[in-house]
Amino acid sequence: MDTPSDLRGARRRWLAAAGTALVAAASHRSSFAAPRGGCALIAGDALARYGFRDGHPLGMDRQGAFLDEMVRRGLDRTVGRIDPAPPASRDVLERFHTAAFVRFVEGAEAAGLELLDDGNTPVFPGVHEASATVVGSAIAGLDAIVAGRCARTFQPVGGLHHARRDRAAGFCVYNDVGVVIETLRRVHGIRRVAYIDIDVHHGDGVFYAFEDDPDLIVADVHEDGRVRYPGTGDADETGRGAAAGTKLNVPLPSGAGDAEFLAAWGRVERHLDRFAPEFFLFQSGADGLDGDPLASLRYTPAVHAHAAARLRVLADRHAGGRLMAFGGGGYDRGNLAAAWCEVLAALGR
Ligand SMILES: [Zn+2]
Repeated sequence: MDTPSDLRGARRRWLAAAGTALVAAASHRSSFAAPRGGCALIAGDALARYGFRDGHPLGMDRQGAFLDEMVRRGLDRTVGRIDPAPPASRDVLERFHTAAFVRFVEGAEAAGLELLDDGNTPVFPGVHEASATVVGSAIAGLDAIVAGRCARTFQPVGGLHHARRDRAAGFCVYNDVGVVIETLRRVHGIRRVAYIDIDVHHGDGVFYAFEDDPDLIVADVHEDGRVRYPGTGDADETGRGAAAGTKLNVPLPSGAGDAEFLAAWGRVERHLDRFAPEFFLFQSGADGLDGDPLASLRYTPAVHAHAAARLRVLADRHAGGRLMAFGGGGYDRGNLAAAWCEVLAALGR
């Protein structure tokens, strides 16, 4: 039987395999190893550095909690891997963010700031580098998919969906998903993109950045904004102007569980089928699970298993299988490990 120290040893061996067994060469991309058409896990020490200190719910231990459970379940054998990439450059970050905001984050430590926003998102050592590493790693995953080296990715430290173009918010510094969307458009010519978000909190940073964009198809199931941060995501928010009808928000009442989620999920699938996106992005926040310290939904990990399995089918149907998944929120370590293992199990092999 595994003991915690055995698990930590297994995680260390998994992390240490980077750059040795998989033969890293000049480019971080060379450390990719996955069967064509399979799934790659984007994880490593540099990504764990995105975490706040002093007991903050989004601490540095979340990725490790997931990796331990992944190894315990043998899921590491079902996926390839992509090592964390170097921090994204200013040019890449500014595909989504304003130049002024990037400069603000770069200078926050030197300026002695304690917070990047009005209270949720503290400055921490290496905040710019760690945050830009989340983005750079997502772009490395996107590159791997576009190049055909894999079809799907899962990046547990990612899906920072509250960051706005011009500001940090809700534990999120740079919005990796936003940068991926802009990169799909500007670099790869892929316009019609689906963003599916099952984090307990509304994905406002993605939603409002593309509210008037008819080619960003959003489906977001979350706890009702009248009682939960960030206070947005009403059912009548469906997109503006030419984008009206391209966004689906499904707020659930506090206490809702798997039955309510599955009822909402049927609408999500019909919405996605209607618009036939060319590329799928999935924010699989685990903070909707029963017992999360920051929210009040009562999902079991079956929600994540179902959503991931069905999105794989929909991505195969519409997008040549191209799907990037991100961990998002989730603050009970056992919950996030269980939920994200379900995501990886559904996307692997
Ligand atoms: Zn959340």
